[in-house]
Amino acid sequence: MDEYDGTQTNGSNEFKTARRARRAESQRRRRAIESQDDRAHRLSQQREIDSRRRANESQDDRDHRLSQQREANQIRRIAKPLTHKSAVNELANMVEANIEEYYIGQMTTKCDKCDALHFGKKPKSGTFNICCSNGKVSLPRIITHPRIVSLLGNRDDPNYAHFRLAIRRYNNALACASMGANVKPPPGQGPYCFRIQGSVYHVNGPLHPRPDDAPAYGQLYISDQNEATDIRMVASSELQRQLTLELSELYREINPAACA
Ligand SMILES: [Zn+2]
Repeated sequence: MDEYDGTQTNGSNEFKTARRARRAESQRRRRAIESQDDRAHRLSQQREIDSRRRANESQDDRDHRLSQQREANQIRRIAKPLTHKSAVNELANMVEANIEEYYIGQMTTKCDKCDALHFGKKPKSGTFNICCSNGKVSLPRIITHPRIVSLLGNRDDPNYAHFRLAIRRYNNALACASMGANVKPPPGQGPYCFRIQGSVYHVNGPLHPRPDDAPAYGQLYISDQNEATDIRMVASSELQRQLTLELSELYREINPAACA
């Protein structure tokens, strides 16, 4: 008897799953041909219905709804384990027009302690955890130098276009330390993915290079700046010598870590 009941439950679950799949398929077809206006109208109606329903629901109804939602999420997770490969396949089969828009709002909510900008509502405390740990971390203000502002935002600056194009080259050439991490790309094929295992750390060499080694990173800031610029130019042919020299001197002037 026990065995029979079990079979009946499994059969009933299978029936429900098949019915759910049929409904999802017919919904997907309907949505594939709906116009932009119809879609906006449908979403707005749905939002209204949801908000009315939730305003009137009792605590029990709410608990029930959340529990069903958790169950549905669990079923989805079990049915489609989110490996890199399955995510790539899912992406390949997706029709962009059928993906519902999700608008997160504007990033204009300011943390009262550190002025960092966030999305969404401000908490009652007025502070956030992810920027400054609710004011526990206090960082010095970011230094903005007119030359850097001009390179980044003034189209009339003769180096504006070049600097924006090669900005990562300049960043690397002027860095005081190199970045280290155990890079572990996911197996198989797919879109580019930068995955690391463990922590990201900065690799600092000794103050002076070893005999026969050319100075690099922080060591370049205690060398003659013309000589240092020549070494940086060897590392990347895309740098402009005059701008590299100018930026390294500026860096030595305004960055406490580079003041030799
Ligand atoms: Zn903050």
